Amino acid sequence: MASMEAAQTQQRTNCSVCGSKIVRQDMPYCIYCGNNFAMMDGSATGKRKETRNMTRLAKMPEHDDFEAALTRDRGEGPEFDRWRRGAKSGRTTLLFGIIITGLAVVMNWPTAVIVLGGIAMALGLFQFLKNKGLQSERLKMPLMKRPCVVTDRRSETEMQFTTGITTYFFSLEFGDGNEAEFRFPGRGYHTEPLSKGITGIAHTRGTELVEFEQVRV
Ligand SMILES: [Zn+2]
Repeated sequence: MASMEAAQTQQRTNCSVCGSKIVRQDMPYCIYCGNNFAMMDGSATGKRKETRNMTRLAKMPEHDDFEAALTRDRGEGPEFDRWRRGAKSGRTTLLFGIIITGLAVVMNWPTAVIVLGGIAMALGLFQFLKNKGLQSERLKMPLMKRPCVVTDRRSETEMQFTTGITTYFFSLEFGDGNEAEFRFPGRGYHTEPLSKGITGIAHTRGTELVEFEQVRV
């Protein structure tokens, strides 16, 4: 029983796979990446008392839309799309800089043009690498699609110049009764945020809620 005691006294603070903060010690797995803790030391069973939401979610596989909602490809979300566009425009700026600098050297244009070309190259390369880095960081986390209920929500609005950018944080309870908060960047004022009590399939990558496919149960 020595190993059991060791497992109980040893507190997990962060997931060893994805690095996410571990909020509850009785969780058998990492809710953000699926990393199984229980298999390593058997200390967490994760059996939860059946909640009303668990009973509700258990019915979801019977829903006509369930299979389609589970397999539908909803992409990586608007934030990821913005990084994609950012990388593309960075590459364009970089190419523009290379062409201008090249032409300026060959055609013997003023030094100022070479300097401008150099600045474009540097800015373009920076923008390209930054946006590529953000994309690969996100893709490191596995895409998980799970039935859930939205149990709570809050939002943070950050001013960027004159427009407020709203980010939502939704607490989701999954079919096994485990719950965690996920970040969901706002989709603009024309999109209704998810309301409390709504059910569906959450597409998550780490602590990010990438998309939400509503399935009513
Ligand atoms: Zn993890």
